[in-house]
Amino acid sequence: MNIAFLGLGAIGQPMAARIAAAGLPLTVWNRTASRAAEFAREHGARQGTTPADTAREADIVVTCLPTSRDVAGLLDGADGLLAGMRDGNVLVDCTSGDPATSRFIHNKLAERGIDFIDAPVSGGVSGAQKGTLTIMVGGDPKVLERVRSVLETFGQKIVHCGDVGAGDAVKAINNALLATHILAAAEGLAALVKLGVNPGVALDVINASSGRSNTSMNLFPERVLTRSFPRTFRLALLEKDVGIAAEVARETRVPAPVLQLTADLFRIARGSLGESADHVEAVKMIEQWAGVEIA
Ligand code: NDP
Repeated sequence: MNIAFLGLGAIGQPMAARIAAAGLPLTVWNRTASRAAEFAREHGARQGTTPADTAREADIVVTCLPTSRDVAGLLDGADGLLAGMRDGNVLVDCTSGDPATSRFIHNKLAERGIDFIDAPVSGGVSGAQKGTLTIMVGGDPKVLERVRSVLETFGQKIVHCGDVGAGDAVKAINNALLATHILAAAEGLAALVKLGVNPGVALDVINASSGRSNTSMNLFPERVLTRSFPRTFRLALLEKDVGIAAEVARETRVPAPVLQLTADLFRIARGSLGESADHVEAVKMIEQWAGVEIA
């Protein structure tokens, strides 16, 4: 089984490395070609010259780009993916995408006899490196079975969620919960610090109580209290995810003021902290408003 992988970003790179380490023949492509060249050298993969060339020998094409629109943008033209893919191929999109664009891509590929599943991941860069990602899949379950062994090279928990777009929707709602936890924890801890409570002590209590979350148990102790703020998942990408979650709520006519407010707050944070800031750096915006550091 030949695999093509497009998008060697923060999480795509370790996912592709797991495919190579499993011994599957792999061709890689990245918009900035030097990253693909370095990957090919290090992992014994072939470097594709264009998306079409990358897909030409492949049975399964995996994409991991910032947005579904970026994936749709790779399909057309003489160098595009569709020029290299054949009837019977599968496109597995691991982008945290949006359901509407995934359905558009699915329909476009179906006209050519190419299958599509949305398969966004969670578990972060370290989960990708260890091969322990959770993968949420939308699409035909029979197509999932055809690609499962490839997904198992970087994923541990692989869950079929529904039709095309369902994986994207579950991922967006999960990340919207992450975003609300970050903001609410920052607001609450900023207030406690102003009251004179040590934030480490407050987290110790919260993490033994009902308010705890991954944010309070891991992100705040490891990244906020230490002021290390490592750049593992860009705030701009989380802003995109919360926007998708708010859109899913609108489409389904579910009143969702908390999701909408979180989407707006992350839009403000993206505007003030910039494109390369890490998602946890949203805490700095709350700290600035409060005039206090959570440390
Ligand atoms: P990065 O920003 O680190 O990397 C993005 C990748 O996409 C790069 O390879 C970039 O190429 C490429 N790219 C960007 N725009 C385009 C375009 N228009 N056409 C072609 N290639 C493009 O993102 P991540 O790897 O962090 O994230 C990828 C996806 O995975 C996102 O949807 C994200 O939400 C999701 N995700 C990320 C997690 C994480 O912890 N990082 C966790 C779970 C999901 P170039 O090198 O040229 O910039």
